[in-house]
Amino acid sequence: MVDVPDWLTDARRICVLTGAGISTDSGIPDYRGPNGIWTKNPQAQRMSSIQDYVADPEVRRRAWQSRRSHPAWSAEPNEAHRVLVDLEKTGRLTALVTQNIDELHQRAGSSRDKVIELHGTIWWAECLSCGVRSPMADELARVSDTEPDPACTLCGGILKSATISFGQPLDPKVLQAAWQAARSCDLFLAIGSSLTVQPAAGLCEVAVEGGARFVVVNAEPTPYDGIADAVLREAIGDILPRLVRAAVG
Ligand SMILES: [Zn+2]
Repeated sequence: MVDVPDWLTDARRICVLTGAGISTDSGIPDYRGPNGIWTKNPQAQRMSSIQDYVADPEVRRRAWQSRRSHPAWSAEPNEAHRVLVDLEKTGRLTALVTQNIDELHQRAGSSRDKVIELHGTIWWAECLSCGVRSPMADELARVSDTEPDPACTLCGGILKSATISFGQPLDPKVLQAAWQAARSCDLFLAIGSSLTVQPAAGLCEVAVEGGARFVVVNAEPTPYDGIADAVLREAIGDILPRLVRAAVG
């Protein structure tokens, strides 16, 4: 901790990676933490594969029901999201790469061109056949007892949230942008990610190989702690505001 504020002050090209842990204070549960969705219900993880979604209408019906009640619709950005906006204002944040699909960074005020959504966004729906996107709110409004699994209005294809399911490749352009940001930064800050999902987690190695300092802020140990220059296990809502304020003055 002692040196980390100085590292933030000195860095000229900061790349931040955020995971579910930054949104738990906003009421969005994480996946793999002690109270995570998949920790409590391993079945839920198996329900998240693209193969099951395409093959099984019942999986899609359940997916639409769970989207309806997703905590993202009522969640508000928290202090950790907000201080990353302050960090951006220093002009030294090159990218805010996120594994989250909740758009809380953008709603906190982070620039849309800084935010790289590795795993997509739940605020949009996408047709798996023709690729057309529509606002998720519009599609959720169509969900009913008679239409439990609304199809694409253009081509009749299967609609899904514009998020990356297990078995689905990441958008190559999005991944390339994240890779570039990690490779060219001089400080890589991984916040609230278990760093167990690839290729997102591998960005840490990309950054270190590119010569960056690497700091992990996460409550639980991660597989990348061993190559980190500092590992901070304190609550994100406490440590991140202190760190950023010390660094930006
Ligand atoms: Zn379509």
